[in-house]
Amino acid sequence: MTLPVLLMLVHDGSSVTAVEERDPALPQVGVLDLGVTRGDGVFESIGVVGGRPQALEAHLARLVRSAELLDLPRPDVDVWRSAILRGIEIAGSEALESELLVKLVLTRGLEGGSAPTGWVHVFDSGDYSGDRAGIAVVTLDRGYRSDVAVTSPWLLQGAKTLSYAVNKAALREAARRGADDVVFVSSDGIVLEGPNSTVIALLDGVYVTTPPSLGVLEGTTQAAFFADAEARGAAVEYRAFTVEELRRASAVWLASSGRQIAPVVSLDGVELSGDPASTSETLKRLLAR
Ligand code: PLP
Repeated sequence: MTLPVLLMLVHDGSSVTAVEERDPALPQVGVLDLGVTRGDGVFESIGVVGGRPQALEAHLARLVRSAELLDLPRPDVDVWRSAILRGIEIAGSEALESELLVKLVLTRGLEGGSAPTGWVHVFDSGDYSGDRAGIAVVTLDRGYRSDVAVTSPWLLQGAKTLSYAVNKAALREAARRGADDVVFVSSDGIVLEGPNSTVIALLDGVYVTTPPSLGVLEGTTQAAFFADAEARGAAVEYRAFTVEELRRASAVWLASSGRQIAPVVSLDGVELSGDPASTSETLKRLLAR
C-alpha cells in the first residue's frame, strides 16, 4: 500500500525550493496556518483514472485563476504539474487499479509569515457507483443575486477557495431533507451550481449550463461533457436558466471531477425521467479520457 501519498511544496517566499515526500499520517501544517485558521487559500481536486490525471491543464489553469482572485502568489504550474505526476507515479499499481483523487492545496501560509503553504495529496477516491446510478437533489437559495461576481468580487464567487464550510452545511441540509445533493439557486431565481459540482440540463434538446460569469466555478468535467456532446453533433449552450426550466428539463446531471456525472433522478421530491442509456454511455467516455 503506497496510498495516500503526500508531497509538500516547500516555499521560500513565493518560490518553491523543494518538493518533499512526507508521511501523511504525521502533522505537516502549522496551527497558525491561515488555510487552517481562516480557510484562506485555494484548492483543486483532480480525478485519476487508469493512472491518467483528467483535465490536468484545466485544473492547473483554474488553480492559477483562484490564486489570482485571492491575491495569493501565482502558483508555478510546471512545479505543480510535476509534483502531481510524481505523486501518481509513487501510487504505482494502485493508480492503475483504482480511481484516485489528487488534491492540490495552496494557503496563504503561516500568520505573520511571507510564504504560502502548498501540498499535493493523492488518495483513493472511494466508490462513486451509488451517485453515478442517480441522486436526489434539492434546490437551495444561495442568497446572492446572479450578478454577484460583478457587483461584489470580494465574495470570491467562482474561486475554488478553502472556505467550503457553507458548501458542507448545504449538503447537511440536503441530508436533513432526505436528499443526496444540492443545486444552489440565486436570489433572482437563476440555477447556479452544486456545492461541489456543475449543473448540466438537457433543455429542448440542448445541453445547457450556467455561464461562469454568473459567479459559478468553471467546471472541468462539464467542459469535457460539452466537448463530448459537440463531438457527437449535439448542441450545447452557456446561458442563464431558471429553476422552472430546470424542473421541465428532460435530464439533469451534476458534473464533477472524480464522480464525473451523477444523473439527477429527483428534484425537490419530484421524479425526473432522465436518460439512463445516454448517461451510462457518456460516463464511459468521460472515464476513458
Ligand atoms: N462547482 C463547485 C463549487 C465545485 O466545488 C466543483 C468541484 O470541484 C465544481 C463546480 C465542478 O468542477 P470540476 O468538474 O472541475 O470538478
